[in-house]
Amino acid sequence: MGRSAREVFLPRWVAYAPRLVASLFARERVDAVTILRTTFFLIPDPSDRLRCHEFCHRVQCHREGRLRFLWGYIGEYIRNGYRNNRYEVEARLFSGEDS
Ligand SMILES: [Zn+2]
Repeated sequence: MGRSAREVFLPRWVAYAPRLVASLFARERVDAVTILRTTFFLIPDPSDRLRCHEFCHRVQCHREGRLRFLWGYIGEYIRNGYRNNRYEVEARLFSGEDS
């Protein structure tokens, strides 16, 4: 998998604050955040598995459209939290994290 323009690698000093905030929301360590169709990696050397996970979120966004994906994700997060929301469940299945 090549590094597409949709993957942005943030230097540690830039990534520090967003990583802290994202980890608080997720209640677990967060190494990457996908916002709509762009993935921001918050660590310098993400695993292939993590890149697949985030790629899945970009596919979800393409599949549903930006607005539906955004509101869908927020709604799922409110109802089911981070780990159990259907977008995260699908991304873990896609990347093989749950296997
Ligand atoms: Zn995810």
